[in-house]
Amino acid sequence: MGGGTISGTSPMSLQPDCIRCGRDARGGRRVEGRLDYYPRWVWLGLVGGLLPVIVLCFIGRKKLRISFSLCPDCARRQRWKQGMAAATWVLVAASILVSVKLDDAWILIGTALLFVGAIVASVLGSDPLQVSAYQDRVFTVKGFGREFPALPGP
Ligand SMILES: [Zn+2]
Repeated sequence: MGGGTISGTSPMSLQPDCIRCGRDARGGRRVEGRLDYYPRWVWLGLVGGLLPVIVLCFIGRKKLRISFSLCPDCARRQRWKQGMAAATWVLVAASILVSVKLDDAWILIGTALLFVGAIVASVLGSDPLQVSAYQDRVFTVKGFGREFPALPGP
């Protein structure tokens, strides 16, 4: 991955260069999205179980509205990965249905493997940008390609 970070307040509108490869992305895809940031202290809720964590996430969540560009090539690659992830989840669902009908250990193992594969595919296909820090209304966003021109120099 590498690449640097960009800081700013919400809403953040990035220049029309591809966030992956840095090429001029006019004619590509403009993504209007939302990135969520959860402060680390939400994990303190774990002492009370999963529910407090969910409640704390809800309280502590900071939303960044962001728009960025992907060039046609990177947009296509991103869509392909998302399609793969969706297809793998369909396979998982089908495999669960089959394993309920046929009580077979191998199908169960296959389902478990597919499940792991689907999670991996979802992570790979997820939005490239993430909020890495938040303080006083300023979000720090990471996940840019090394070539993205708006990045502060080394
Ligand atoms: Zn690109």
